[in-house]
Amino acid sequence: MKKHNFSAGPCILPEDVLKKASEAVLNFNGDNLSLLEISHRSKPFLDVMEKARSLALELLGLENKGYKALFLQGGASLEFLMVAYNLLDKKAAYLNTGTWADNAIKEAKAFGEVLVVGSSKDKGFNYVPKGYAIPEDVDYFHCTSNNTIVGTQMKTFPKTNVSLVCDMSSDIFSRQLDFEKFDLIYAGAQKNMGPAGTTLIIVKEEILGKVERHIPTMLDYQVHIDKDSMANTPSVFAVYVSMLTMQWLKDLGGIPFIEEVNNKKAALLYTEIDRNSLFKGVVAKEDRSTMNATFVLTDESLTATFDKMCKQAGINGLDGHRSVGGYRASMYNALPLYSVQVLVDVMQELERTI
Ligand SMILES: *Cc1c(COP(=O)(O)O)cnc(C)c1O
Repeated sequence: MKKHNFSAGPCILPEDVLKKASEAVLNFNGDNLSLLEISHRSKPFLDVMEKARSLALELLGLENKGYKALFLQGGASLEFLMVAYNLLDKKAAYLNTGTWADNAIKEAKAFGEVLVVGSSKDKGFNYVPKGYAIPEDVDYFHCTSNNTIVGTQMKTFPKTNVSLVCDMSSDIFSRQLDFEKFDLIYAGAQKNMGPAGTTLIIVKEEILGKVERHIPTMLDYQVHIDKDSMANTPSVFAVYVSMLTMQWLKDLGGIPFIEEVNNKKAALLYTEIDRNSLFKGVVAKEDRSTMNATFVLTDESLTATFDKMCKQAGINGLDGHRSVGGYRASMYNALPLYSVQVLVDVMQELERTI
């Protein structure tokens, strides 16, 4: 039986998507060739790329609104650099809500002045800063919607006239937001969209072309837009599997549908964390992530017992990030509610056995 996969990334993908992906590796499109051995310029693959780009915009409700979708390489980490390369003229504002945000700030500093308008670094990023002000004269404001590592999530986004740029790597397509408020969204595929190897970038084209510096070809968003995300050989497999996952989500009912499921999963687990005296959460309650729920045992001597019980129940990937420890249950779109129920049952079983 398939395991209950709470892995933080790369992470669970829908069973049906994995089946279709494995078929395409052997015989893509009924052409008796593997997806992995055909030209990326062939019509069947060009159709995949176009479908992936249009599904991304469609799911977010951003079609025909001046946005372009790109599937590039280099991970979300390269976007820390590319965002600043393409958009930072003099000054940018950043919100520091976690290790990934911190890395984005480090990269941006090479390009201009970086104002950190809010930070929860002093408390190990266990909450989301609020009440910060964004100056009107910055080129953009950068934030990270979901702190994958510690398990906090921005529930609201600031009202500002400044361009909003957001790293949505670990909660893209998980909840409804007013996506039109954002001028640039990026997300590494391997958290909630597909396998590792490609990054989705959604960019409002009109914000580009405002910096003076020379931008290297492969780091220039405009180049990738002009080449329809085919400036060089794309990650064909990662784009294909991302496309299948987006199609899977669309067929289920899109973001409105999956948001309800995600809320149910999160409510089920957090209710148990709060009820069961053997466990406790580690971040501010109002900022808890629906995607990555972090918790610890109140009595560490139970670790071996709990770990063993999880293993016996077929639970995988529950270890906290190596920088934090404890437990982290990642409940991305493809994780069924049933898997969360299995975890909750084990937590209750632990309570009964001790
Ligand atoms: C995982 C993650 C990253 C890093 O992604 P890579 O694709 O490995 O570069 C960046 N931001 C967030 C929020 C993440 O969860």
